[in-house]
Amino acid sequence: MPLDRHTAPNHPKWTDWRWQMQNRIHTAEALHRWINPTPEELEAIEKTKEVFRWNITPYYARLMDPDDPSGPVRRQVVPHLDELAPDIVGVVDPLEEVAHSPVKNLIHNYEDRVAFCVTAECAIYCRYCLRKRMVGDAAFFMRKGELQEAIDYIAAHDEIRDVLLTGGDPLTFNESNLEWLLSRLRAIDHVELIRFGSRMPVKLPYRITDALCNLLARYHPIWVNTHFNHPKELTDDAAAAIAKLKSAGVPVGNQTVLLRGINDDAATMKALCEGLVRMRVRPYYLYQAQVIGGTAHFRTSIEKGMGIMRALRGRTSGFAIPTYVLDTPFGKVPLNRSYVKGRCDDHVVMESYDGRLWAEPNPRPPGETTTVTLPAVDMPDTAATIPTGGDAFVPLPTVA
Ligand code: SF4
Repeated sequence: MPLDRHTAPNHPKWTDWRWQMQNRIHTAEALHRWINPTPEELEAIEKTKEVFRWNITPYYARLMDPDDPSGPVRRQVVPHLDELAPDIVGVVDPLEEVAHSPVKNLIHNYEDRVAFCVTAECAIYCRYCLRKRMVGDAAFFMRKGELQEAIDYIAAHDEIRDVLLTGGDPLTFNESNLEWLLSRLRAIDHVELIRFGSRMPVKLPYRITDALCNLLARYHPIWVNTHFNHPKELTDDAAAAIAKLKSAGVPVGNQTVLLRGINDDAATMKALCEGLVRMRVRPYYLYQAQVIGGTAHFRTSIEKGMGIMRALRGRTSGFAIPTYVLDTPFGKVPLNRSYVKGRCDDHVVMESYDGRLWAEPNPRPPGETTTVTLPAVDMPDTAATIPTGGDAFVPLPTVA
């Protein structure tokens, strides 16, 4: 008897994370048992299958509104025809992560820390994913020897004090593989901090088992940053997963991506951040959605995000307010008036932490309203260019 949204939660293995992984939804036929897909969604499933995998855990599928294709959970995971729309740029690696990888899947951008993409597997494939180029792609999965090569690189670089385990999702690893990895990293004297970037508490909270928490507690200091985007994701099951991590002594932060039509209004963002704080999760970053091919329909203007930040300040607890940032090849740039210089047509010009200029392609979506207006940047007519995330917009003159 195939599972559906009514019968599946009664299955004896519903809370078994491996069962959830094995029963992920990835065909139109299966999706029909969970929601009423629109003809456009069915067409998108067919047309995007060569471009980006899709997979939804039964747990997360239960959070989707079966009758509302614009629902905030559904839009994050069900393919959409807009993914095939001509984009402003065809960027697949906006942060130049490949160029910053001395060995496979190890990104060494900042001097004292690395992002170690230990797997390309995820429990679900978020349609706006920064690493669309690699998640689910067999070429980016790591063999043991390749993991060891990355560990050897970390061991040979004593300036690295902070290792972020990411992917993909590192908590798709089972305990035995995690133990292998953590024991080797902890054996390196200069590695002070190990962080996980995982969306498991959101898309598959049953992954946060007692066995996992006991393992993590043996390798402290361990931190986890997770990725809730909407208050609908703050379920009792998610809260129970967070409580387990906290009981194991793991501080938990949250990184939200600002997504048009999903969380790009102050009331939704306030509800999300206050709900996170109630779960003892610190809202850490609000990310401007990156320029990645096939994701333009998710992006807002930077002014829109700055307006949301203004609306939060003074209206909720200070520690419920994340830092709004854009990730660039020059590092994360806080999107406030100390760093953002202004707008030049379809670009927003900003300064990195070490004083370099970056011009982010960021056209204002038609009809968008916001309370923030950036000043027009004074652009002297010189031959020099500012780096930018998209070929379609270069060259730009230098900002004075
Ligand atoms: S969980 Fe993270 S890495 Fe995986 S698809 Fe979603 S955004 Fe990408």
